[in-house]
Amino acid sequence: MIRLFVPEKLKSGATIALGADQAHYLHGVMRRGVGDQVLLFNGADGEWRAGIAAIDRRSASLALQAQTRPQTTGPDLEMIVAVVKRPRLETIVEKAAELGARRVRLAVTRFTQGDRVRLERLGAIAAEASEQTGRLDVPEITAPEKLDAILDAWAGRTLIFCDEGGDASPMLEALNAAARGEGTGFSILIGPEGGFAPEERARLRSLPHVIPVSLGPRILRADTAAIAALALWQSRLGDWSP
Ligand code: SAM
Repeated sequence: MIRLFVPEKLKSGATIALGADQAHYLHGVMRRGVGDQVLLFNGADGEWRAGIAAIDRRSASLALQAQTRPQTTGPDLEMIVAVVKRPRLETIVEKAAELGARRVRLAVTRFTQGDRVRLERLGAIAAEASEQTGRLDVPEITAPEKLDAILDAWAGRTLIFCDEGGDASPMLEALNAAARGEGTGFSILIGPEGGFAPEERARLRSLPHVIPVSLGPRILRADTAAIAALALWQSRLGDWSP
């Protein structure tokens, strides 16, 4: 069944008005009409079945019928990614949503050369990916912050630093060691096209909460590295692990 993310509160008896984009998607693209059902979620109230009460090209109204799933949240995993060129950044946001990241933080590093960030578009990409996966929340995408400021304000989480330098432990080995320690939230850090500056690597490697990891002997593009690291984390510590 079609799933839509909506910002409104979802509760018994509520009517939800869709904007033009979602109405066009339901009516013009998916050919749904009055009486058809869809699933709605908002990241807080679980998933609900709703019937289409009225629809045209520009608007639709949906009547909530029953909750189909209570709200749950995935593992405490965030991705911190240096701003890279727009198509790759959009891929990273989409794949992070599919692979269960709770949040994507955008970082500005010494060698960041990305395009202007369009947060609204990235949010829409994250919402669409979440609709497709069946998850009940949409990852938050945060505005670009300097990497140094992120590290200055660091508190409590373990930071998996994807270090292309070649001398870090293989990521799986590092995750096996982390699995034996105390539970914390995890963040995965991916650098820009130009990699990390020597002083950034040195700072990251000096911090006690940072685990530098290698993703193998080949230098990967940032989007490939993000997907590989998220998949490894989910398999060893996340909701893919038995
Ligand atoms: N231009 C850099 C170089 O040649 O060293 C490559 C940067 S790479 C395109 C972008 C980011 O992906 C890196 O900063 C790192 O976070 C991650 N990455 C790529 N390959 C990696 C690897 N083999 N191990 C760990 N991280 C990797």
